[in-house]
Order: sequence, then C-alpha cells, then structure tokens
Amino acid sequence: MSGTSSITTEQLRQWDKRHVWHPFTQMQEWERDEQVIIVKGEGCWLIDTDGRRYLDGVASMWTNVHGHCRRELNDALKEQVDRLEHSTLLGLASEQSIILAARLAEITPPGLDRFFYSDNGSTAMEVAVKMAYQYQVHGGHPERSRFITFRNAYHGDTLGAVSVGGIGIYHTTFKPLMFETVQAPAPYCYRCELDCNKNSCSMECADALEGLMKVNTGKVAGLVIEPLLQGAGGMIVQPAGFLKRVRELCDRYDILMIADEVATGFGRTGAMFACNHENVVPDIMAISKGIAAGYLPLAATVTCDKVYSAFLGSYSELKTFFHGHTFTGNPLACAVALKSLQLFEQDNLLAELQPKIARLKQHLDKIESLPHVGDVRQCGLAAGIELVENKETGTPYPWEQQIGISVCLEARKRGVFTRPLGNTVVIFPPLVISNSELDMLLDVLQESIRFVTE
Ligand SMILES: *Cc1c(COP(=O)(O)O)cnc(C)c1O
Repeated sequence: MSGTSSITTEQLRQWDKRHVWHPFTQMQEWERDEQVIIVKGEGCWLIDTDGRRYLDGVASMWTNVHGHCRRELNDALKEQVDRLEHSTLLGLASEQSIILAARLAEITPPGLDRFFYSDNGSTAMEVAVKMAYQYQVHGGHPERSRFITFRNAYHGDTLGAVSVGGIGIYHTTFKPLMFETVQAPAPYCYRCELDCNKNSCSMECADALEGLMKVNTGKVAGLVIEPLLQGAGGMIVQPAGFLKRVRELCDRYDILMIADEVATGFGRTGAMFACNHENVVPDIMAISKGIAAGYLPLAATVTCDKVYSAFLGSYSELKTFFHGHTFTGNPLACAVALKSLQLFEQDNLLAELQPKIARLKQHLDKIESLPHVGDVRQCGLAAGIELVENKETGTPYPWEQQIGISVCLEARKRGVFTRPLGNTVVIFPPLVISNSELDMLLDVLQESIRFVTE
C-alpha cells in the first residue's frame, strides 16, 4: 500500500510506466527498471511508498532551500490559498507579487529593481534574451542581434534558452531550429580548451572572449553567463575574478550582461547571489529554482532602469514588451517566496551556511585523492566530483558506461538520492542540511564511488 492512498505501489509503477514520460530520461530503460515512488518529504529526506527514506542530495532538482514540508512555508501557502489562489498580472496587479518584487529589490544587486515574472528558469532566460534584443532595437540598433554564450553553458530547454546553451548532447539535435550565437570557450580549468590548467591559468579564456567581442563589435545584443558556476555543464567552477572580468569586457564593448542565477541564486554559493561574490551587477538577471524554496514554480527576470526605460513610450510607438505567461506572478508561489526570504533572516541561513561549506570542502579534499576522481569542484554548497578512467591522463570514462549513474544507484541503496551530470557526481543538498546529514551524504558518495570504480 502507498501510505496515504489505497493505490498499491505496483499499480502506481504500472501507471507511471504507461502514462508518464519523464524528463531527460531514456524511457526504455525506465520502463525496464523498478522505480522509486516518493510520497512524503520531511526536512532533507524523501520517503517512498514503502517507507524507505532517501537523503535528498540534489535538493529536488536544485530547488529546495529550507527542507521539505517546512511548517512555516506550509502555513504561508495554506493561508494564501484561502485568500487568493491566482489572479492575472495582465491588466491587474496582485498583492503578493507586489510585495515580493519590493522585497527582492532590497536583496538583488543594486539597481536591479524591475521584475518581470514568469514560472521557470527557461522562461526567465527567454524573457532575458528577448528583452535584451528589444532593448537594442529601441536604441536604434536592430543589427545588434547576436548573443555571446559559453561552451558547456545551460540556460534551459525552450528554444531560445537552448540557442544560448552549449551542451552538445542536449542541444545538437535542435541545431536547425536554433539561432546562431557566438560561442566563447568554457572557463573549465580541468579540461581547458586553451591548454592551461589551474596553476598556469591567467584567464586566457577571458582574452579569447575579448577577441570574440572585438570581432563582433556593434553586432552583439548581450552576453549570457552562469555566474561562478556552470551547473548542468558539470558543476564547472570559474576561476576567481572571471565574472568581474566579463563585466568589464561587457562595459568596454557596450554589451548587455545577462546573468543566469537560476541555479546559483538564493544562497547556494554562500552569498544571496553569485554575482555578489565579485561585486558584479549584471544588466539583466534571471532567477528561479530556489526562489520559492522548492515549493512552486516561479521565476523572474530582473533588470535596471536603463533597460526598463527603453521600453517606455506611447502605445502607438509599439515599445511594449509583448511577452507574458498565463501564471505570471502566481500569488501562492509569491507568498511562499516571501516566507522563504523571512526564513533566510530568521534562521540566519547565510551565516549558518559558512561552516557547512567548509565541512563540505574537508570531505571533498579526502575524496579528491581517490584513484578514479579526476577533479573535484566546489562553489558554496554545490559540488561536482568528476570521475575518470585514468587519473594520470584525465581520460574520461566512455559515456555509454554510465559511470555517474552507477554511482548514484549504489548511493540510493545506501539511502542517498543524487543525480549525476555525465561522469560527474553532483552534491547540491537543501541549504538547511545538518552536519550529520552532510557527513552521511559525503560518506555514502565516497563509498559508492569506491564500490563502483575500484
Ligand atoms: C535549471 C536551469 C535553468 C532552467 O530552469 P527550468 O526551470 O528547468 O526551466 C536555466 N538556467 C540554469 C543555470 C539552470 O540551472
């Protein structure tokens, strides 16, 4: 029996295989395997139909902040649902979306005060890209239609977001449907395209980026970057100072800087936003995943007065931003997001995070010495462990071997849920994870890596 309902686990599994098409999943394999079905959440734990508990090592796809079913958040949601479940922002304003925008304006980098709501990271990035281009059009520069992007970048799965992405296996199929971009080298020290390494690096990739800006002078609308951390590309951490340098280059070449903080926002890197670490203020910033603490879909594209005011004019000038989503500014999601920001303060969450970040580093330092660990990368409470067939040469495991998946399946047997990115094992727990849970997460991962690779 499945806990709260009278439908058996077996029945649920059958219906799932018959009717649910899972994202980023080879369904032939999915249908063959026995799947875990989650029915409950408690703090950092997910509980399945048989009552088995799994530590949520990836914060339910990088969204969870304060734990599952946190009482204060549940109460905020219940309170709001009895007042107003939804009302549109097209032609009307709504209370929770107003208060949230005003509150977010206090914590986003200075000058980023204009919030355009949507409901997921991909749409927040679509909005950013269209906003940047229309801004150029209004400034009399329709020829500035190119976007500078980074190899290995991920900005979501809708076509505009895919166009500015740079992950081969996700994006190549859709090439004929995508717009062209100018792709700069990924700031990926372990596998540097420019043949540098962590020790010899003097940010040659930023020089290469400048070269591309020069060649495309006057043709670029914006540059799109995941600040500090390329997440889905394999938890690739940028060299210190890289983001700052990118900001300077965007200024020098008059290019709008679009920061995709969908994964890094809301404390993940140890600061509220990744841009804070290098005192960078982008022109446009996309936020989503952690915004509503992992409860409900919500996103925003936030910009400055310079961009916003370019859209002002009489109706007949057609400077309106013709873009919008049905559930924009949903009051339930906004109410939870507001309560989540309160909890950040009440729990002193950012300060509490610092010792956990240090503890994670200690674990990673040990794991780095394992014979099949090529590289470990950490940014705040996010980390990636890249497994390699040969540590001397850095030769990767062939992707068909699904080494990352094998490690995660071993971890699951030991009570930890995580999901790999290719050969990289991902650590991305809820920010409230306790010391003992963090220890368990890392001990289990270390054991599972050794079990599979040694
Ligand atoms: C997850 C992610 C997105 C896409 O967000 P969705 O809500 O899945 O559409 C965009 N950018 C980054 C950096 C992400 O990590």
